[in-house]
Amino acid sequence: MLHIEDIHVYRGHTYVLKGVSLRIAQGEIVALIGANGAGKTTLLRTISGLLHPRTGAMHYMLGADQPSHDLTRAVPEHLVQLGISHCPEGRGIFSQLSVKENLLVGAYLRRDKEAIQADYHHICELFPILAERSKQAAGSLSGGEQEMLAVGRALMSRPKLLLLDEPSLGLSPIVIEKLFETLIDINAQGVTILLVEQNAVMALDLAHRAYVLETGRITLTGTGQELANNDAVRQAYLGGV
Ligand code: ATP
Repeated sequence: MLHIEDIHVYRGHTYVLKGVSLRIAQGEIVALIGANGAGKTTLLRTISGLLHPRTGAMHYMLGADQPSHDLTRAVPEHLVQLGISHCPEGRGIFSQLSVKENLLVGAYLRRDKEAIQADYHHICELFPILAERSKQAAGSLSGGEQEMLAVGRALMSRPKLLLLDEPSLGLSPIVIEKLFETLIDINAQGVTILLVEQNAVMALDLAHRAYVLETGRITLTGTGQELANNDAVRQAYLGGV
């Protein structure tokens, strides 16, 4: 579905991604783990068109018989139309708007009013707390509720590929568990997921496959289980357990 070949990305004068290659197949949950500053957010921002690689290639296709789209210079609006939705670190919700208004912002490129309503109700089923709080200002929600809102808003664009940047940040273990269960449901409904996480234990448990990013380079890849059992990964990211 997504093929990234040897991309090199700069932020200002800082050379951040130093030849990253990565593949995501349709239907997968892929986790990207790595220490602070490794370049995980930079990679997600590059996939969603907010940054562009200086060299390298990114291609996206929705099935073997479908055309391949060159994402290397694509802009975010085009990517949303292709079904790529980015749920950023820090959530980026609009605190003055209501919960419902925030969710509808996620559908801003869509014109199919009835389907938007149906998706809104579906998201309220996935996250009942959002239905209960639909009229409340989003800024008054707890951290966990705001994360659910950010994921719900990303789903309102009907993504095929959902990019999640540190969804567990600042949440309690119980809320993280609930959120990750919902990610399994979302994936079961056909959404492919790329998950960036500091919480390597839970991310590797959830993911079909995973990549380790260290100072701008992919250093390891394998199934979630393989990486969870890898000594170097256990030492560096799983607290040596
Ligand atoms: P974190 O988990 O802390 O967000 P990360 O793996 O997501 O880490 P990035 O945010 O992608 O890492 O940052 C990678 C590198 O790029 C860091 O060294 C950071 O200092 C640098 N960087 C990030 N944003 C900018 C910027 N706007 N200008 C210059 N350098 C930047």
